Amino acid sequence: MPTSPVTRVEISRSRLLANFKYLRSLLSSNATQKRPEETAAVSDLLAVVKADAYGHGLSPCAPWLVQAGAKWLGITSVEEGLALRRLCPKVRILVMRGLLAGEADALIDAQLLPTVWDPQQLGWLADAAQKRELALGSVPIHLEIDTGMTRQGVGLADLPKFLRALQNLPALRLAGVYTHFASADMLDTEQNWLQRAAFRQALEQILAVGFHPQWIHAGNSSTLLAQQYEDRIGFPQMEGARRLIRPGIALYGYAPQFSGADREAAEEARAALRPVLTWKTAIASTRSVAPGTAVGYNATFVAPTAMRLALLPVGYADGLNRKLSGSNQSPGGHVLIHGVPAPIVGRVSMDLTVVDVTHVPNAAAGDEVVILGEQNGQRITADDHARWAGTIPYEILCAIAARVPRIASE
Ligand SMILES: *Cc1c(COP(=O)(O)O)cnc(C)c1O
Repeated sequence: MPTSPVTRVEISRSRLLANFKYLRSLLSSNATQKRPEETAAVSDLLAVVKADAYGHGLSPCAPWLVQAGAKWLGITSVEEGLALRRLCPKVRILVMRGLLAGEADALIDAQLLPTVWDPQQLGWLADAAQKRELALGSVPIHLEIDTGMTRQGVGLADLPKFLRALQNLPALRLAGVYTHFASADMLDTEQNWLQRAAFRQALEQILAVGFHPQWIHAGNSSTLLAQQYEDRIGFPQMEGARRLIRPGIALYGYAPQFSGADREAAEEARAALRPVLTWKTAIASTRSVAPGTAVGYNATFVAPTAMRLALLPVGYADGLNRKLSGSNQSPGGHVLIHGVPAPIVGRVSMDLTVVDVTHVPNAAAGDEVVILGEQNGQRITADDHARWAGTIPYEILCAIAARVPRIASE
């Protein structure tokens, strides 16, 4: 049982699917407008559902996406992959974090697609394949190329060694090759060009030694919204290969802030997305306080006048960022009650938060409180929380604690 059922997150099916369909339409409109010979059939989306679907809940989000036509899902770990496989028995699942020691058996048995770039990872997979006496080419792998992110992936210098190792392991099949862009939201940085060029070189090396990967992928939400994946940050054509773009955050209705002179189109595309998640609680109790009353840990807020306060049964243990605390010197975040912004006063505690409802008529115990989402035409977004907390919307969404139940809604 969740420990705080009053505090809950509602996940909108219709919004998730509208975002998914919209992102898919960007893919096909781009292909038909700019290169008529390329239909949507040669490009597809890999819907990223890592980190429990960016905090939205793998269930229900992953099955909804599959019902809407998603053929590919991306997660981070084998554990997440196993949970996802139970939810979606048929979909292609890419584990985007590189294979770790001890994971090969579970990965193969659940038919998850591994990310690899090191000959040692190939060895683990080959051993697991041998134990199972699998046929030639029956373990598909996705090779990640490090084109400038310096995180995962093989660099160009070590690629030949990797490919030689792979040639000696006939159970394995190079099904996909991919890279990840570090600065896809920065539309005028040279880094995108350099990464694209490095990716192209890597693919040429791979072709030259006789591999024919079926899937070539790069790019995230920003790449897709900025429509950079074809002409500007596009990746090379390879005979018979199909391409994937891997949006995550945009599925859930958000995107990074774009920078660069020609960001207008990307911002416009971003504006079509609808946030999928609403985070609610309810007032626990209200009280009136006299001027001079200190509120919360370390008395960082002292009522300057007579005030009416509401206690909320939510705190940083639920994922409400402590940087949203409000002191007399610097205001923090706010919530919505009856559609009116109610500022957080004093420190956000582990399980409790106090807000100022002096200007909210008739606020009373049991009334709905929107922490993130819409109420009476007003809204608070993960971008607002990110601004208050000095972080990015990704972190705000992923930080909503597991104890807050995710409830499916239309
Ligand atoms: C998280 C991730 C994505 C999705 O990024 P968004 O910015 O959320 O669209 C795509 N590819 C890889 C490799 C990732 O790790």
